[in-house]
Amino acid sequence: MPDTNASGPTSAGGLLVEVAVALPLFETFTYRVPRADAGLTLGAQVIVPFGPRKVTGFVVGFTDQAPRQLKDIEEIVAGEPALDESIMELCRWAAAYYLAPFGEILRAALPQGERASAAKRVRLTPQGERLLAQESAGAMGFASLALDDADRALLKRLRVARSLSVRALERTGAAGRLAALQASALVEVGDEVQGRVGRRKVRPAKEQALIAPEGPAPAPTLPVLTQHQAEALRVLDDARRGGYATFLLHGITGSGKTEVYLRLIAEVRQAGKGALVLVPEIALTPQLAARFRARFGDDVAVLHSGLAPTERRAAWRRLRAGQVGIALGARSAVFAPVRDLAVVVVDEEHDGSFKQEDGVRYHARDLAVVRAQKAGALAILGSATPSLETYHNVELGRFRRLMLPTRANPVAAARPLPPLEIVDLRQHPPGRDGLLSPRLVEAMTANLAAGEQTILFLNRRGFSPLVLCRGCGNIVRCNQCAVSMTYHQASNKLVCHYCGDTTAPPSVCPKCRRPSLERMGTGTERVESVVRERFPTARVARLDRDTAGVGRASKLDAVLASVAKGDVDILVGTQMVTKGHDFAGVTLVGVLLPDQGMHLPDFRAAERTFQILEQVAGRAGRGERPGRVIVQTYSPDYPAIVALLTHDYEGFVRDELKRRQEARYPPFARMVALRLDGPDARSVEAAAGQICEAARAAGGGAVRVLGPSEAPIAILRGRTRWQVWLSGTDRGALVVAARGAAAVPLPRGIRLAVDVDPQSVL
Ligand code: ADP
Ligand code: ZN
Repeated sequence: MPDTNASGPTSAGGLLVEVAVALPLFETFTYRVPRADAGLTLGAQVIVPFGPRKVTGFVVGFTDQAPRQLKDIEEIVAGEPALDESIMELCRWAAAYYLAPFGEILRAALPQGERASAAKRVRLTPQGERLLAQESAGAMGFASLALDDADRALLKRLRVARSLSVRALERTGAAGRLAALQASALVEVGDEVQGRVGRRKVRPAKEQALIAPEGPAPAPTLPVLTQHQAEALRVLDDARRGGYATFLLHGITGSGKTEVYLRLIAEVRQAGKGALVLVPEIALTPQLAARFRARFGDDVAVLHSGLAPTERRAAWRRLRAGQVGIALGARSAVFAPVRDLAVVVVDEEHDGSFKQEDGVRYHARDLAVVRAQKAGALAILGSATPSLETYHNVELGRFRRLMLPTRANPVAAARPLPPLEIVDLRQHPPGRDGLLSPRLVEAMTANLAAGEQTILFLNRRGFSPLVLCRGCGNIVRCNQCAVSMTYHQASNKLVCHYCGDTTAPPSVCPKCRRPSLERMGTGTERVESVVRERFPTARVARLDRDTAGVGRASKLDAVLASVAKGDVDILVGTQMVTKGHDFAGVTLVGVLLPDQGMHLPDFRAAERTFQILEQVAGRAGRGERPGRVIVQTYSPDYPAIVALLTHDYEGFVRDELKRRQEARYPPFARMVALRLDGPDARSVEAAAGQICEAARAAGGGAVRVLGPSEAPIAILRGRTRWQVWLSGTDRGALVVAARGAAAVPLPRGIRLAVDVDPQSVL
């Protein structure tokens, strides 16, 4: 709460603004801007007094209702608004829809580095003053220090704030209250700059490549569109002139969806308007970014997680200024400040990574549609395997569907998608390696002899996912989490795939102390070693988070590039290999064991299995030569597998939708997951009980309350986890139930996360 002893010499009047503070609070607060002509716009980032603290906030509205106690805005951080009005509108919608604090979603919408939460104000120390004076006099001031980006940016801000306020003071005299405040920003409490400079004496400024410079884009020769592409483009180009609409571009893998986006965006740019393109994981699809750059050169800002905060901010600024017209990025790019937005593309719209799984748990695809709606723009959701939600929206007439039923490459188009071949592992067990069935080995051998490439997919990294004691049956578990540790051979470590904790592999069972531990099961690391042994002449590469970990984008690019060049015969990997790669030389895809994904306690398990297998199958036979897809499974009768045999998406979806409707699952109902965690198991369980009752009481008959139940991963990072799921068709009632639950006062240390439209059951 803002404290009650409002202070400061305020002149009567002034502008009243509504501020959302960057704290997990649902209310906004009213502050006064002492000078109404200060040019404060909606979206501006400010620092306001908040209780004993000073915190970052955003101007979200203007008002003439003064509360009894009124405090003044302390400082305007950025002259230009941090967020423009349309993005603020989007955030306002998201806050209401996701039951999230407005300030928090605003913060999520900002490029990293502008997230100055609960900012402490700092001033220049005498040392800082001295360096600044040196710098103004033309000598090496701050520039003589090796600083990291954050510090450099901070110093620069202090310098700019100082020069602004000096000039403002000169212009307006002492009457300029804001100017005076800005001046005070430099002389108020705190000596953090000194402290930070002292601590990080010589730390070289981070050198991070922004957007790999590719020189001027050579005029690309554009392929002649297929009839289906041309028709889709015509419909979309017409539609964009008519304002908001959402289209599903439903095209089989390799049907040329990307080419349609590129052409449409070229039209949009011709018309002087902007475009936003969201992709699941930008680092995984360098080919896609390269195609955009080849087509649009500097007119596209590629927003990936490897960008340093300053680079990201610079990209944001260029977009906002209209210097760059196209933004391409993952989930959080849905907030990118593209000017005059005319089209929003969500590629692979079914992909689970569009859902933010902590903080404000938004779904970027859904926000993209809302953003398009608010901007009067066109939204295009592209997929070979649309989510059931999107498919259902087509059935309801909310979205229109365009089909690309054939592959775009004229040679590949002449043949149907390769049929799936199923190896029933119950009848045809794998050979002595316990992994590769004779049929798959045969196919791999032939492929290798023909000089063609193979992809092997197993959705589990590491060497073996279980370390089990043959003596007592104990499984080695993470100390922090209720999950088994995975053995990694390269590092010779046990790793928890949920919290990242690593330990040395014990030589005896931690429980019975006998030396009878055995590594069981298979991950990609073991697949790689089996394959190398079996095919000693083959050039083998592996792609998973261990070989291409986060922040090691260059390694990932290198693997993908060598596969594209044909320097790899067999690529082994997790779902990283299933994403939109376009390798013409891949003619065989082997799926090793999809069974674990099928049997997750998740109502979307079948949908996910279908999507991931259809995607990986789509990697085969994209070039001149036909492809083969071999799936080894113990569950050949699993409906998604049966449908995959003939790539029967429609058939699968029809049955699956029926099942969902009967079970009252999305898209026929909406869900909200209430996720609780805390250090003490009993109090979390008790709190979950209370939350459950409160939800029942508030929701009345219109809301089904499921639970409370222990989460499938019952302990994570030492915190016990419980869940309560709400479901119903009446969104209003669901919101009331969720609010009722969220209002329950919880004991210290227990956290409650409200997850609207949850995607994860874990
Ligand atoms: P999708 O996005 O549907 O998977 P892409 O747009 O990546 O498909 O196209 C698949 C491949 O076909 C790419 O190599 C692309 O360059 C090529 N392609 C796309 N459209 C055409 C076309 N009209 N003629 C020839 N090749 C095309
Ligand atoms: Zn763990």
